[in-house]
Amino acid sequence: MPPISFEFFPPKTDEQRATLESALPRLKAFKPEYVSCTFGAGGSTLSYTPETIRRLREVHGLDAAPHLSCMGGTRDEIRGLLNDYRSMGCKRIVALRGDLPSGMASHGDFRYASDLVEFIRAETGDHFHIEVACYPEVHPQSNDALSDLVNFKRKIDAGANGAITQYFYNADGYFRFVDAARALGISAPITPGIMPISNFSQLRRFSDMCGAEIPRWLGKRLSALGDDVESIRTFSADVVADLCRKLIAGGAPGLHFYTLNRAKPTSAVLERI
Ligand code: FAD
Repeated sequence: MPPISFEFFPPKTDEQRATLESALPRLKAFKPEYVSCTFGAGGSTLSYTPETIRRLREVHGLDAAPHLSCMGGTRDEIRGLLNDYRSMGCKRIVALRGDLPSGMASHGDFRYASDLVEFIRAETGDHFHIEVACYPEVHPQSNDALSDLVNFKRKIDAGANGAITQYFYNADGYFRFVDAARALGISAPITPGIMPISNFSQLRRFSDMCGAEIPRWLGKRLSALGDDVESIRTFSADVVADLCRKLIAGGAPGLHFYTLNRAKPTSAVLERI
């Protein structure tokens, strides 16, 4: 079994905090290599992400890595966050561009995630292990697969150590993407991002936004299960566990789970593999 990692989002309300707190003991039992916490582009979680990282590290003893998205941010803001994370003992960071929140006009000081990676290296040398995002099914704003791959390479060339993929349900697409990346000279590990399924309409919404494909057969089967929550859980866990088994057998260097702060959907997959 390769190393696993869990991604959380920073809770903003007491109710969300309680949900994450109740998920953590169950997820910790799977001994993740590290966990990560997302960051709202444009600074929409400017204080929540550092707060959550501190708590995950100090209260839960987890190696917690912050996401840092540069869209809408300034050099000073990013420098401040890097200093805060260093002082918390963080050694790993997930560097992203993010998406411009609606209503925000300014892109800030950075254009692409590769600019952020370059900045982190210039500011902090080799202190951080930097992960970046990549897209086996192509980033939704990209014109073609090759230029998207070339842009992925820019982030590795700027100093990123590894990449985590957008989620997908087609293992072959991942393997072809890894082959294409290797052919272009990218040797960094490419860890598949895994999205367990608990709510089909939510998944459909996410997938429309981020350009991840839900295969027709999977969508049809999930739709047919309607509101039968228990059957959706069992079916989805079987499907996602099967995907993970294929990825592991094909040499994936790790599995990064998008937990959405819930233990059950991720645990159901991990228990099966
Ligand atoms: P980039 O690598 O900058 O790419 C964005 C687009 O620009 C792509 O289409 C790329 O092909 C193109 N591009 C890149 N460089 C160039 C160039 N030099 N010239 C022309 N075109 C270029 N979002 C958040 O807001 N917060 C998070 O915490 C977060 N976590 C994520 C974690 C993972 C693992 C993943 C996969 C995504 C995450 N996202 C997050 C979403 C991400 O911010 C969006 O997908 C965003 O649209 C792109 O971010 P990026 O870092 O991949 O951008």
